[in-house]
Amino acid sequence: MNFYIMTLFPDMVMQGLNTSIIGRAAEKGLLTIKAVNIRDYTINKHKKVDDYPYGGGAGMVMQAGPVCDAYESIAAECKKRPRVVYMTPQGHTFNQSMAEEFAKEEELVILCGHYEGIDERALELIVTDYVSIGDYVLTGGELPAMVVI
Ligand code: SAM
Repeated sequence: MNFYIMTLFPDMVMQGLNTSIIGRAAEKGLLTIKAVNIRDYTINKHKKVDDYPYGGGAGMVMQAGPVCDAYESIAAECKKRPRVVYMTPQGHTFNQSMAEEFAKEEELVILCGHYEGIDERALELIVTDYVSIGDYVLTGGELPAMVVI
């Protein structure tokens, strides 16, 4: 199984996943994990990826453009357009049957939000599943992505 994690903090997820059982599984070639840095896909000269929400609202959200472009670069490496799990406190709570269902995928993309989340237009275009790891709000989707993997 091949995991792609879309994140602003690739080192954080790779350091956490390169150890213990997941790390050994990757060494044996049972799975691959690739962290894709969404910031690499911004066209802003200051590498900015946040913006005010389209349509208003409090706080900042991650821009749609870099998120969609990062996903397209992943999809180009895959046989079919892969399923995208967006980690969000508003999603369905992760459980064993969801884990078993995701495990049937050859490729799975996990999208990590930050700020007040991600521009809704990007979510509508690419996300297939909205998943929470519990009824609390974290600052980013990286720990939830590691839990799911
Ligand atoms: N108001 C935003 C919302 O309801 O989506 C909160 C955003 S939170 C500060 C930033 C990011 O952390 C979210 O986009 C999501 O990726 C992640 N996150 C926070 N809590 C989570 C949870 N319980 N389960 C999964 N992801 C979570």
